[in-house]
Amino acid sequence: MKKRELTVLADELGFGTRLLFQELGDPWGHIAVRLPKESGRDGFMLKHVRVTPPPGDPNAIMMFDYDGKVIEGDRRIPWELPLYTAIFKSRPDVQSVIHTHPLIATALSMAGKTVFAITHQSAPFEHGVPIYGGDMVNTEELGEGLAETLGKRPAALLKGHGAVVVGSSIAHAVQSTLYLEQAAQQQIWAATLGTPQVLDQHLIDFHKKLPPGDGGLALWYTKKHYDAEARGARTRSSRPRKSSKQPKKK
Ligand SMILES: [Zn+2]
Repeated sequence: MKKRELTVLADELGFGTRLLFQELGDPWGHIAVRLPKESGRDGFMLKHVRVTPPPGDPNAIMMFDYDGKVIEGDRRIPWELPLYTAIFKSRPDVQSVIHTHPLIATALSMAGKTVFAITHQSAPFEHGVPIYGGDMVNTEELGEGLAETLGKRPAALLKGHGAVVVGSSIAHAVQSTLYLEQAAQQQIWAATLGTPQVLDQHLIDFHKKLPPGDGGLALWYTKKHYDAEARGARTRSSRPRKSSKQPKKK
């Protein structure tokens, strides 16, 4: 594979994990993305959301095959690796898998409730994402059970534990993770005032027909743009300024 393609994926993993940490406030979890076929490697790249204490490399990325064998990388192997291998094996349509522990969506699962399509942004969750048990998904059997519960859907909750979200790209999966948490929050707010309703079916169908690119990834690209802008501004402001004072004459 061209080095550039790997760099692009690594950059997206870096931005994606930073965004998830900033928005969800939880350092636990990972983003995984399939290695492209041209790489000649059959497997996926994975980045931890959390960073290792110095001198660990905060940008470290690992590569695994679909049986969970390390192809490259020396960070600790995630306990919940079977979650990724099982979903990648059962969902050929999926390019990226994310496991996080979003506060509000997880709170809903504790009460036996789930996230459904309450807004246009949450339309893909339709009549409710499925809920799996709260175990640490650290065996092949648990991974397969989760993949079965997920089925063809975009997300599943792990009771009292977290969420799993899949997408056609890193951007798509990250954006859906953020919308899952946003919908959970809106659902609870709405429930304090009345009974939130699932969107009308024609609106759910309308959103299903939209391609995941273009306007469909507006949240990801807008965050990326302003993040780059803010980082650029910080870099500029941290440069030493030229003094306008004239040196004193002796
Ligand atoms: Zn977990």
